[in-house]
Amino acid sequence: MLINHDTRCALDAVVDLVNTAPEGADKDDLADVAALRRFVERNDISDIGTLGERDLTAVRAVRARFAEVFAAAGNEAAARRTAELLNAMIAAAGTTPRLTDHDDYDWHVHYFAPGASLADHLTADCGMALAFLVVGGERERLRRCEAPDCRHAFVDLSRNRSRRYCDSRTCGNRLHVAAYRARRREAAS
Ligand SMILES: [Zn+2]
Ligand SMILES: [Zn+2]
Repeated sequence: MLINHDTRCALDAVVDLVNTAPEGADKDDLADVAALRRFVERNDISDIGTLGERDLTAVRAVRARFAEVFAAAGNEAAARRTAELLNAMIAAAGTTPRLTDHDDYDWHVHYFAPGASLADHLTADCGMALAFLVVGGERERLRRCEAPDCRHAFVDLSRNRSRRYCDSRTCGNRLHVAAYRARRREAAS
């Protein structure tokens, strides 16, 4: 499946967004408007005006709904639920597809309406990126890290869809080390 630049950026942004949610003992990485601004900057989200408390509340609500897309397991009921969720979100965001070739990128489609709030912007563009993954039969690429104390969302873009951890250098390794120590403990007892 062809994943163009903007789709890739939208997928990265939605993964980042979902992973700002507090999990277990973690704190909320979207704790205030300053944190929301940092999120916008690191994801290079364009056409965003002044952000306020209202944006923060709206983006947190959108985050909770996107989290459900990543939480759904790979069965038929979950697929239907994902479709319904994305349809409802995209419709509510006032999505307005239009062709653009900004910043030297090839022609591609933006989905957020001109002047959309940050929450609607994220819903439209990330929602459509996720919708295209579903259309491409790639829904199973939307994963949660299998490290038990992590559970971070990620999009598995590996050729054979075999990624199990959000970042194999940390989570994958951490698990290997834990398994190795457990084996050693067993051998020593
Ligand atoms: Zn673009
Ligand atoms: Zn992880």
